[in-house]
Amino acid sequence: MIIQRVVLNSRPGINGVPVAENFRVEEAILSDKIAEGQVQVRTLYLSVDPYMRCRMNEDAGSDYLQAWKLSEVTDGGGIGCVEESKDVRFAPGDFVTSFTWPWQTKAILDGKQLDKIDPYLVDGHLSYFLGAAGLTGLTALLGIREKGHVSPGSNQTLVVSGAAGACGSLAGQIGLLEGCSKVVGICGTDEKCKVLVSEMGFDAAINYKKENVAQQLHKLCPDGVDIYFDNVGGDISDTVISQMNSNSHIILCGQISQYNKDISYPPPLPPEIEEIKESRNITRERFLVLNYMEKYSVSTLQLCQWIKEGKLKVKETVMEGLENIGAAFQSMMSGGNIGKQIVLVSK
Ligand code: NDP
Repeated sequence: MIIQRVVLNSRPGINGVPVAENFRVEEAILSDKIAEGQVQVRTLYLSVDPYMRCRMNEDAGSDYLQAWKLSEVTDGGGIGCVEESKDVRFAPGDFVTSFTWPWQTKAILDGKQLDKIDPYLVDGHLSYFLGAAGLTGLTALLGIREKGHVSPGSNQTLVVSGAAGACGSLAGQIGLLEGCSKVVGICGTDEKCKVLVSEMGFDAAINYKKENVAQQLHKLCPDGVDIYFDNVGGDISDTVISQMNSNSHIILCGQISQYNKDISYPPPLPPEIEEIKESRNITRERFLVLNYMEKYSVSTLQLCQWIKEGKLKVKETVMEGLENIGAAFQSMMSGGNIGKQIVLVSK
């Protein structure tokens, strides 16, 4: 059977900005026989995520990420439907997911790579398992719970950067659900600011491309910042940290503004910001969702319950067609998405 697949065409290079042309679509032949323990799947949805920028380098720079090889199939979070199975745990028609889903229209996968997913948990919105009910939602929830030190009733102000993205839009809402009094988001367009305030319950939002972030923060957070959910790093984070209170907490989730640069992770703070952090006893511990796998099941149920109850609003930006996955990645890295960037491969 002939299928389409996506391979890494070229690397953006040290300090290079990734573009759609770094990926290439080609045809390939999928065997019509599957072995014991294997499952043939049809791909429905694929995820593009900022961490993939590291996988585009020759060296991914960490022990939990593998660099993609040139002209080899790229992979990441995916969802599909079982067409044929020689693994007793799966039957045709089952919906399954994997963190290592090849970017192909169909694939033969080892059953051990797959987890079954229940569409009922997300009212049929299967793609949510790549976002709000998947690793993104877990990152927001566990980041807040493990590193946020939210204390209901103590009038805490939470600031979220990358606030209109997949993780940030959930982190702000979860901060409120967990007991913060006020949430202010920082993001890159007026439309995003509007969505955060009118649809997602944020108290206010700042467009960092148009507004003076320091001035706006002073105005919107007169009592200072108690918790900072940091998705972006760089100048935005330095500005937020300068307005953080004593004994406050940074949730060091990601540093997307630095991902195209050849620097170690997490990037060190500039000396004057490090000085503020030390003198005010601000915590800035690295957070990695993969370190909390034992909490995934119960946390996923919590996320699904909030989604069903309408307490957690979910946004997606969907690009159609496997051939557009490179464009979807480029767009997400440069702010084209509101909520989770998804690629719809087949219905
Ligand atoms: P998003 O959906 O937030 O997409 C990325 C967003 O980043 C863009 O939409 C853009 O929005 C913003 N952005 C891009 N470049 C810059 C820049 N130079 N300065 C400021 N903002 C920028 O992605 P995710 O929700 O998937 O990921 C968010 C963060 O969470 C990333 O840093 C990621 O690495 C991290 N992460 C961490 C995990 C962990 O375990 N610690 C797990 C999963 C994700 P805008 O228009 O606002 O610029």
